[in-house]
Amino acid sequence: MSKTLPPISLEFFPPKTPDGVAKLAAVRRQLYVLKPQFCSVTYGAGGSTQDGSFAAVRAILEEGCEAAPHFSCIGASRESIRATLAQFREHGIRRIVALRGDLPSGYGGGSSGVGEFRYASDLVAFIRAESGSHFHIEVAAYPEMHPQARSPQADLQAYVAKVRAGADSAITQMFFNADAYFRFVDEAHAVGATIPVVPGIMPITNAGGIIRFADSCGADIPRWIRLRLQGFGEDGESIRAFGLDVISRLCEQLRAGGAPGLHFYTMNQSAATLDLVRRLG
Ligand code: FAD
Repeated sequence: MSKTLPPISLEFFPPKTPDGVAKLAAVRRQLYVLKPQFCSVTYGAGGSTQDGSFAAVRAILEEGCEAAPHFSCIGASRESIRATLAQFREHGIRRIVALRGDLPSGYGGGSSGVGEFRYASDLVAFIRAESGSHFHIEVAAYPEMHPQARSPQADLQAYVAKVRAGADSAITQMFFNADAYFRFVDEAHAVGATIPVVPGIMPITNAGGIIRFADSCGADIPRWIRLRLQGFGEDGESIRAFGLDVISRLCEQLRAGGAPGLHFYTMNQSAATLDLVRRLG
């Protein structure tokens, strides 16, 4: 092992039932052995999961871990965002994952549905204008391009706009190609956007789920990985063993290349993330 493990952060989504809340609390207890730098909680754009998200954030803070709410601006007004920022401050939150978000289908909020903020860079600028340096602002980065972007160059410009608006660091969309990550970081550095870009790591535990999710968010699953996953059929044990090999190898490449952290999309499960970090030493 050439380098020590960089800081780890963990991502959860808000559970929808009391049973889910209890299960997530147990998962967090298991994962705290990894001493995460912070735990983030996703947020449903347009209001779908916002109360559950904030409840999970409060629970993490009470457990003594830094909590970072994801916070999306699509469909929101300046007033509603100002109120949420005040609530975050009251609860001692110092880190936010600032996003545009995607509107749930059928959402009809605001006159156009989009609200007063068009892009995440508008939200970052607003948070900075309202709160100075109080919050550490994380933004999303897309090594393989955001699916709605016109081109990789246009998407890089959108990323640079978030950095110029005041982002402190970035977390990437999931990816399986380390070269795409390193290329993105190099291109961002070349145009002066030098904030840390932490790779978002999705453990593979389920073939259908990962293929669907990757397809929906524009992440490329290399053909050799996709074919093997499909070939395992319902054999969950082989899928998990193969997934552990593939993703731990990806993390090794990222670590060796100097990635400043690893952000795990836990999917509210502990086993896959624990196995990966153990494998990494
Ligand atoms: P932006 O950075 O605003 O980009 C959105 C699109 O607009 C891109 O195609 C970009 O190229 C383009 N664009 C940006 N600025 C301009 C401009 N000035 N002119 C023209 N085009 C522009 N979604 C949720 O709903 N809840 C979550 O909790 C959540 N967490 C996430 C966490 C991470 C780490 C990541 C990577 C994604 C997450 N998402 C979440 C998904 C995210 O909301 C979607 O990918 C969304 O479509 C884009 O959000 P963004 O903040 O990247 O938007």
